[in-house]
Amino acid sequence: MAIVAGVPAPSLAPRMGQEDLAEKGGVTYRELRARSLINRCSTDRMPFQWTVNPYRGCAMGCRYCYAAYTHEFMGIVTPESFHTLVYVKSDGDDTEGVLARAVRRGETIALGTATDPYQPAERERGITRRFLEAVARHRGVRLGITTKGALVLRDLDLLQRIGARSSVSVNVSLISLQAELVRRLEPWAPPPEVRLEVIRRLSAAGVRVRLGLAPILPALTDDEKGLDALLGAAHAAGARMAFANVLFLRSPTREKYLRWLQAEFPRYVEAYERAYQGRVYLGGPYRERIHALVSRLRRKHGYRDAETREYGRPGPARQLELFEGAPVLRAAAPSRTMRR
Ligand code: SF4
Repeated sequence: MAIVAGVPAPSLAPRMGQEDLAEKGGVTYRELRARSLINRCSTDRMPFQWTVNPYRGCAMGCRYCYAAYTHEFMGIVTPESFHTLVYVKSDGDDTEGVLARAVRRGETIALGTATDPYQPAERERGITRRFLEAVARHRGVRLGITTKGALVLRDLDLLQRIGARSSVSVNVSLISLQAELVRRLEPWAPPPEVRLEVIRRLSAAGVRVRLGLAPILPALTDDEKGLDALLGAAHAAGARMAFANVLFLRSPTREKYLRWLQAEFPRYVEAYERAYQGRVYLGGPYRERIHALVSRLRRKHGYRDAETREYGRPGPARQLELFEGAPVLRAAAPSRTMRR
């Protein structure tokens, strides 16, 4: 479908609210009427068959967020708007029926694939919680939740109830322990020590936790010392599984991320442009080196699984010495501020 600014896809246009529901912290919220919160995932490259994204857009503001392109289908072509104009989905009349079908088939549901289900709006809107309440009424659900948000702890009771009759795991996304760097990369996500505490409390409550070490950012978060410390800290907090993948850079995230890099770390721009020229994934020796490194560190710290997940197909192998031996970035002292 050709993307035209200001022209939403015909399937979305009649469902998009025109009125602002709220404006908070520089983010405007509008309604998106949904028939079902659960959507079929048609690609077999993903380890799940259904996705649930209670919001469209995400106020966490991650500079590398791959999902920014999803706003284009609504005619919103400025990638930064993904973080400042968030659509809040209605619960959807068909959600219960689709959920029952997914459970009957024994298929896996991924909650939070293109937006964080515990972003700030969830505190008031409660869509994620209502979905989990529906899940808790079933037996034998296969559910994975991905989040950076500390608000997931609000739903501990539900996660425990679900875990007693179904399979549920929480992927806590954290890419570095360097608080200042994380603040610059993910301005509205909680700082690393808060996410480690989330891992600690979830696992202490018996919820299975996986560290989501994705994306690994070339030259910024790919140094062995930093990855070693992160995998060690997350394991000490209770994570027993971890997945990792290297930055996926497609338009319009590519332009947005490179603009940010130019402002914050201009010395890496040229290397990124060369490395990602004509490709969205890095391949070759760089990718192999990162995979081998993460696998070794995972074994060192006693993680159970051995996955280094790649969503989608890696690009063709090519010699990439650009990021080999890139200097470790030294960030300022950790901030203790709990962000929204
Ligand atoms: S939390 Fe996830 S969905 Fe939200 S901005 Fe960050 S990467 Fe994107």
